[in-house]
Amino acid sequence: MTDAEKLEVRDITRIERIGAHSHIRGLGLDDVLEARAVSQGMVGQKEARRAAGIVVQMVREGKIAGRCILLAGEPSTGKTAIAVAMAQALGNETPFTSMSASEIFSLEMSKTEALSQAMRKSIGVRIKEETEIIEGEVVEIQIDRPATGTGQKIGKVTLKTTEMETNYDLGNKIIECFMKEKIQAGDVITIDKASGKVSKLGRSFTRARDYDATGAQTRFVQCPEGELQKRKEVVHTVTLHEIDVINSRTHGFLALFSGDTGEIKQEIRDQINGKVMEWREEGKAEINPGVLFIDEVHMLDMECFSFLNRAMESDMAPVVIMATNRGHTRIRGTNYRSPHGMPLDLLDRMIIIRTVPYSEKEVREILKIRCEEEDCVMNNDALTVLTRIACDTSLRYAIQLITTANLVSRRRKSTEVTVEDVKKCYALFIDEVRSSKILMELQDEYMF
Ligand code: ATP
Repeated sequence: MTDAEKLEVRDITRIERIGAHSHIRGLGLDDVLEARAVSQGMVGQKEARRAAGIVVQMVREGKIAGRCILLAGEPSTGKTAIAVAMAQALGNETPFTSMSASEIFSLEMSKTEALSQAMRKSIGVRIKEETEIIEGEVVEIQIDRPATGTGQKIGKVTLKTTEMETNYDLGNKIIECFMKEKIQAGDVITIDKASGKVSKLGRSFTRARDYDATGAQTRFVQCPEGELQKRKEVVHTVTLHEIDVINSRTHGFLALFSGDTGEIKQEIRDQINGKVMEWREEGKAEINPGVLFIDEVHMLDMECFSFLNRAMESDMAPVVIMATNRGHTRIRGTNYRSPHGMPLDLLDRMIIIRTVPYSEKEVREILKIRCEEEDCVMNNDALTVLTRIACDTSLRYAIQLITTANLVSRRRKSTEVTVEDVKKCYALFIDEVRSSKILMELQDEYMF
């Protein structure tokens, strides 16, 4: 790799690392689900973190599905941060889909279809498959030499079982395993019938004869030990949405990679639901309800809310967590005002977790963590000024200033960010309050 390429790779990694919530590593709770003051990148907001921890626990134990949780609080009070922390606490096993409500407005599919897909991406199905594992001692292996010219290797292995000797035809895959594992007569092996995987357990060798007259590799041994046949459970985890796409004739599984799945017919979904329920009853599958997180939920309209209200009744609904920073406002698509801009009947079925504004000390702590995350050395005075700015404007604005002030200080070859760097950036980049004020003052100068 050239130096330029190395630099490029490093740059890409770095961009990912400093995303808005990249400092969050979990909810920062102790064993009894109490929130530690500062832990796993999380600061303060103890009540909300504790409540989120209880929800995580219930999801993990499979105790809740089809419930709605609303994270409600002022802007920049950590609602998205808590949702990110919940996803991390749940781990990779539990499906977690995150979206902003505005994403459902697209020309490619209807709003309700986009919501359906998001919900089904949040339901995991653990499909259990039994595979037969044959364990035995190799009596004889016959592998056609590649020189036969067919290109296709064929073969046969004879395994000694307790009662009998059994022949297994070898496909290319098993032959490869044999060659890789360098298995020979006298070895005790296992063959996984579903995957064709061959593993060598040990050796029980007594007598071997090498090549036969035709030149094929043939070996014989006496087999003192018996054989064991085992059944092993293999578990595949997929989401309901993946099963939908794979079974949708119009799209096919490749759509999973392009993300261009289009609309999926309801009849396909009904069939799949029926099949999955059948598998569940037969003990072949388990349903693993995950979490769908919808940020800025006030962007949804009446049609979406009523769809969600109904969808939550289904046996196969995930836990839906929504977040909003709106107080009393109009429900989109209507002239009705209601708390958080959401219909009362939906609010009534929700558990509401409230986030509260941070103290100055907590803001300082969050900014400090962000500085570490961005490899930014900021001196104490600068941090004090930045904390003041965060309290007067917004936490998010102050977090943005870390990046810019860091850049300014590096430009002047300084090893730390000072008050001057912060002030300079505060003057260069205006916050929302100052921007609104300027607009008010210069109202007439702008176009209408
Ligand atoms: P909005 O209502 O405007 O969407 P929000 O409540 O979702 O805001 P976040 O986006 O989570 O707020 O928070 C703003 C920034 O502050 C993010 O970078 C977030 O990671 C960080 N942050 C917020 N709260 C905490 C916290 N308690 N501990 C650590 N970082 C936090």
